[in-house]
Amino acid sequence: MTARTPQPGELEAIETASRDEIAALQLQRLKWSISHTYQNVAHFRKKCEGLGVHPDDLKTLADLAKFPFTTKTDLRDNYPFGLFAVPSDKVARVHASSGTTGKPIVVGYTREDIDNWANLMARSIRAAGGRAGDICHVAYGYGLFTGGLGAHYGAERLGCMVVPMSGGQTEKQVQLIVDFKPDIIMVTPSYSLVIAEEFDRLGIAPQDISLKIGIFGAEPWGQGMRHEIEAKLGLDAVDIYGLTEVMGPGVACECIESKDGPVIWEDHFYPEIINPETGEVLPDGEQGELVFTSLSKQAFPVIRYRTRDLTRLLPPSSRSFRRMDRITGRSDDMLIIRGVNVFPTQIEEQILRDKRLSGNYQILLRRDGHLDEVEVRCELQREFSGKLSPAERDAVGKELQHHIKTLVGISTQVAVMEFDSIPRTQVGKARRLIDERPKQL
Ligand code: ADP
Repeated sequence: MTARTPQPGELEAIETASRDEIAALQLQRLKWSISHTYQNVAHFRKKCEGLGVHPDDLKTLADLAKFPFTTKTDLRDNYPFGLFAVPSDKVARVHASSGTTGKPIVVGYTREDIDNWANLMARSIRAAGGRAGDICHVAYGYGLFTGGLGAHYGAERLGCMVVPMSGGQTEKQVQLIVDFKPDIIMVTPSYSLVIAEEFDRLGIAPQDISLKIGIFGAEPWGQGMRHEIEAKLGLDAVDIYGLTEVMGPGVACECIESKDGPVIWEDHFYPEIINPETGEVLPDGEQGELVFTSLSKQAFPVIRYRTRDLTRLLPPSSRSFRRMDRITGRSDDMLIIRGVNVFPTQIEEQILRDKRLSGNYQILLRRDGHLDEVEVRCELQREFSGKLSPAERDAVGKELQHHIKTLVGISTQVAVMEFDSIPRTQVGKARRLIDERPKQL
């Protein structure tokens, strides 16, 4: 694995600017974004009027806290184009997020928005260690999902040769990687493990795979998963973050030289962390809900969009922008098991402490009477599958159960299954959680 630290002159000036310069640019752009949204989006204007706040009230960055939040419900209620801030003849493209319930959320981009997005994705890929001339295999899904096209335009903008493979067809993915020898892969972490299994099935060792860098995002993944992916694919695994409502992938991306949490491209997205219950803005370093205000988007500006992603803001390290910690999970994914708050990633972390277990797992929730029951299904790595005696397998399960009980704080049943028993994700995000509890009315 080779860490490609940027050479002097390779970065954009703003990436290494002083915090004062960044704040000045943010304030100037924030004023524009708030006025633009106020003038062109009736829904936002009405919300501001309801709170008695006007764009002229924004004198400092801290004044943003006076403005109303935007929620997923606002986006749904204005389906499909109600929150667009430009007439449809200025919209060059739309994307939509799947959404688990009801109607999708539709977002739009002007030509300039697409251009900015490509630049920010190019910046992200460069932060991850990519360079012009690299071959980039894109296995994020193409289509309404922002992953595929977002990655594609960014890689082209950086000067890479792009392989627009999209998701699925695992055998073909691997065939193309073997034949084209790409340097970079962009894919969800869960699907990268499926690709790794196919390499293993073909008897191709990690050091014989051409990939040097993997840019993984669109779903939560922890350090244990990073180590597993790096070992199985023989690359540096870098975390990229984004969401459709704010732009798509490339809102933040980790730097390969530090791998210490995604750097937020603060010149285009202003982050806040709030207490999800009270809406109060929290100081940097405190854990809460991530909120974004777009600073340059024309077609679909978002003001104080509540992402429902839980994390904290970290000080700058490899760039002048602040970073975000890994996302623990979405507030929607948080399980409350007999009063204990749990995220699937906490269970993942415990599974991956055991080298005999793989990163493919599922968490099943059932209700027994009034009590929630949790079953953790995990799998043996291929090399251990079929090789453990029933007693040894039992011991693996007992150990995991004990770790989850003592470190996460919940009682679970653990099923240790043979390799390949849990369905693999083929496209997009893995389904880790299966909730079979009766719906509360
Ligand atoms: P959908 O809302 O249909 O899942 P999106 O692709 O817009 O569609 O999903 C964005 C969400 O995916 C984010 O809000 C976050 O919860 C999750 N996500 C994206 N990137 C990461 C990442 N690097 N780590 C953790 N979660 C991520």
